[in-house]
Amino acid sequence: MSTQGPRYTPTEMLAKLVGFDTVSHQSNLALIAFVEDYLAAHGIAATRVPNAQGDKASLYATIGPNVDGGVVLSAHSDVVPTAHQSWSSDPFTLTQRGSRLYGRGSTDMKGFLACALALVPEFAAAGLTRPIHLAISYDEEVGCVGCQDMIKQMADGAIAPPRGVIVGEPTEMQLVIAHKGINGYDTTVTGKEAHSSQTQLGANAIMAAGALIGELQRLADRARETAPADCPFTPPYTSFSVGTIEGGHALNIIPGSCHFAWECRTLPGEDPAQYVQALDRFARETVLPRLQATAPDATIETVPRAGAVALAPETGPNAAADGVPPDRRGAAEALARDLTGSNHTEVVSYATEGGVFQTHGFSTVVMGPGNIREAHQPDEFIEADELERCVRVLRGLIA
Ligand SMILES: [Zn+2]
Repeated sequence: MSTQGPRYTPTEMLAKLVGFDTVSHQSNLALIAFVEDYLAAHGIAATRVPNAQGDKASLYATIGPNVDGGVVLSAHSDVVPTAHQSWSSDPFTLTQRGSRLYGRGSTDMKGFLACALALVPEFAAAGLTRPIHLAISYDEEVGCVGCQDMIKQMADGAIAPPRGVIVGEPTEMQLVIAHKGINGYDTTVTGKEAHSSQTQLGANAIMAAGALIGELQRLADRARETAPADCPFTPPYTSFSVGTIEGGHALNIIPGSCHFAWECRTLPGEDPAQYVQALDRFARETVLPRLQATAPDATIETVPRAGAVALAPETGPNAAADGVPPDRRGAAEALARDLTGSNHTEVVSYATEGGVFQTHGFSTVVMGPGNIREAHQPDEFIEADELERCVRVLRGLIA
């Protein structure tokens, strides 16, 4: 296979990638075109999966023969905004100070992508007998949106079934086998305005919202009480939070509408729909009849936001990866153990695209360079030796 294309060290490749301003609301097509050209120069064809507007795309590619038993290296191309953050150097110019490489996305998660791409000439020249697939998404930071169509295509036969997927989110190269799911919702109560002295004429949307939030607290308490005793997460149960609430104009006006945004962070294997259904039932049976006594048109509506599916442990006492075929469960974990020589596994409290891969039947783990502590921060950086460590581990895929 051709190896005449350009070569970059991991740091040089990271500088290239950081140089593309791929904040989630911007197009990522310049980065995607760069990667496409680079892969093409090494004889590797790639497939774009564009969004509906045509201003963003995912990209996947196969290095080596498209046969069973390969590995997918997964990264998102988008980064979080830098506006309202104070940076010591331009966030879109990779800047080395001491052992640290500063730039937006250096840790989350262009660092892993840079390592994978820097190894492409070696992968391409190695005469691989099993493939290495690259999967690059967009809009991860706004709720794992951009990977959906790409992963579906990959699962529907665009690639031969791989042994496993490594999602390169920053874990300092520790093997992460599970995370919670993030499920966000907007609940809107529409009642009826009236003078606050005339409660028989109005329907108080804020008081109705208060009752609904009380129900969420009851659901939270029950989730906490019924969580498995050996639950490895922090906190060790499905948690709930109401993040924003707004409604009303004045003390002497019964508020006609109220909106609140809430989330539950579910344990793997738990269906978040049960909580929306429980809230809906409470709304229908208890809250809405009270509103409709004075306002027949009153409504309570809950709609989901984009979120992230939990990554379930595929083996062990809490195994919950039902979507992965039994003969493939734990395959990604075994692969990562082979690559790192470590038996240590962890769970994390942030979410990744790993749950989406798993939902489509892929054995999946999370492992990448950098510390999540630096992600999304001003002066985000990655230690240069983290990149080196990641390259050493990924180079093991050649063997
Ligand atoms: Zn990330």
